[in-house]
Amino acid sequence: MNAQATSTQNARIVVVGSLNADLSIYTQRLPRPGETLHGEGFTVNPGGKSANQAVAAGLLGGNVSLVGAVGQDSNGDMLLESCAAANVDIAHVRRADGVETGVAVVTVDAEGENSIVISAGANGTLSPADIASAASAFQGASVLCLCLEVRLETVEAAALAGAQAGAKVLLNLSPYAPIPPGLARLANVLLVNAHEASQFLGGARIPGPEATVSAWVPVLEHLVERGLQSAVVTLGAHGSVVLDSEAIEDRRVVRIAPTRVAAVDTTGAGDAFTGGLAARLAAGDTLANAAAFASVGAALAATKKGTQAAYPDAAAVNAKRE
Ligand code: ADP
Repeated sequence: MNAQATSTQNARIVVVGSLNADLSIYTQRLPRPGETLHGEGFTVNPGGKSANQAVAAGLLGGNVSLVGAVGQDSNGDMLLESCAAANVDIAHVRRADGVETGVAVVTVDAEGENSIVISAGANGTLSPADIASAASAFQGASVLCLCLEVRLETVEAAALAGAQAGAKVLLNLSPYAPIPPGLARLANVLLVNAHEASQFLGGARIPGPEATVSAWVPVLEHLVERGLQSAVVTLGAHGSVVLDSEAIEDRRVVRIAPTRVAAVDTTGAGDAFTGGLAARLAAGDTLANAAAFASVGAALAATKKGTQAAYPDAAAVNAKRE
């Protein structure tokens, strides 16, 4: 490997955002409003969109720094241990006083479908001042991952710091919230599921899973009108679509076929996808190639219970691709 390739491999990924303890119960089906169901097991696992993305990228060999906040409690300890075990730098995860670590209450049904309620806890204290304190992590970063589980002003400050550092800014619009036009313009890649894509485009209809590539061209055009260059729309078991206004004409819309797996728990599959995408973009892949790799990692993540505990390393992804 030459020096250029080596330095690209080690290009830093900064992930800014949430760390949550996932409190999960497994049921036959999701409860209806007002209904009480018997669950079939309870687990407490490390989660939170940003911690998941950081761990996914770290396990795939990425050089990752996480910027976030946890409380002074055992859930905070568990989250930091899980990040450290995946080689994620946690020097910029602040231990907040007087507030608990963020929590997600997750219900997973027999098909692996989930419903989630989150309580921000320490994540809600992550502020633009934390971004300023993490300036050394941003220096020379090649990829920045953002999601909406922390305050919007913090996301905006991070996007600005990432753009100024010359990093590719990946914005995962989840959980969905409207974003100011300035933030959309700072994002190089928007990462959304079909529902979030439709919300971002003001309720516009998103092509169905069987749609042709040409059906996605108007979606790309809408995104460009909103100041974005590219997006990846994930479609669960149907794979994903890469929309890239900067690719050559016949590569502007690329369908990534799903990897067929027996899904057990899709919680955190989207984060596994984002982490995989970040790892491969930092290694120098094109967006479409990075998404093809990320798609395999995300599918493997759905084959086991939990989020971070289910994430594959690069060897497992490469073995599945062969
Ligand atoms: P989110 O969890 O953010 O809603 P998706 O459900 O779209 O995201 O899943 C993200 C990605 O994970 C998909 O694009 C796909 O690559 C992979 N994935 C999710 N569920 C499955 C599944 N049942 N089989 C194969 N791949 C899956």
